[in-house]
Amino acid sequence: MSDGQDGSGFVKEQQVVVECYLCGVAEIAFVRGQVRIHEPDIGWDKDTRVSLTQCHVCGDIGLIQQFRTHYFEHDPFAWSPPERLWPWPDTVALSLSVPEQLRAEHEQARNCYRVNAHTAVVVMVRRILEGVCFDHNIKEKTLMASLKKLQSQGAIDGQLVEWTTELRVLGNEGAHYTGRGVTSQDAADALALCEALLDHVYVFSRRFREFMKRRACSKAPTGLSVQVSDADTEPNEST
Ligand SMILES: [Zn+2]
Repeated sequence: MSDGQDGSGFVKEQQVVVECYLCGVAEIAFVRGQVRIHEPDIGWDKDTRVSLTQCHVCGDIGLIQQFRTHYFEHDPFAWSPPERLWPWPDTVALSLSVPEQLRAEHEQARNCYRVNAHTAVVVMVRRILEGVCFDHNIKEKTLMASLKKLQSQGAIDGQLVEWTTELRVLGNEGAHYTGRGVTSQDAADALALCEALLDHVYVFSRRFREFMKRRACSKAPTGLSVQVSDADTEPNEST
């Protein structure tokens, strides 16, 4: 979210730059309706407005909230950057196959995103990576070493290795003061990649192993037992 003289996102009175849920990036959106919550008795700094927006690219609808930052009554730019009230980036619950503690950590990361605490999001995502390693009984001295071990165990491979590396680096940047903030887009991407990682490790890998077991059973000649290797056991059984 950017533009506007004070970062309010409004490029014209009836247009705002706001992150679009469908486009996945900040786009100009038309303001289709607006409600002002103004209570003179409690001061101008409590002045709030809620806008119904429509993305000019895809037409998706959203609801944003802003707070007044200056007292100038007719200044259209005297509002805080838009905070999305609806829709959330992702309101779908994680699979129950993901361990409860990791789901709780992930929910905290989502909550951080909902209140625009973008630095906290990437730190929470890094923490979830640690949790995945811990859940696989991997407790190396550094997260980098733990992720390498996770890869050597076959829990992650290919592009997921690249994702976890980038998420770890982003989490490190978030954990230490650099003078630069984490952008909304980076936080949203970190959250989405983290969800995909949890799905891969705990949902789809398990489903694939069960699929292969069924196929092995259906192909085995009658009267012969099927050998199942250690790698075919559930992640939590062997680790
Ligand atoms: Zn859009």
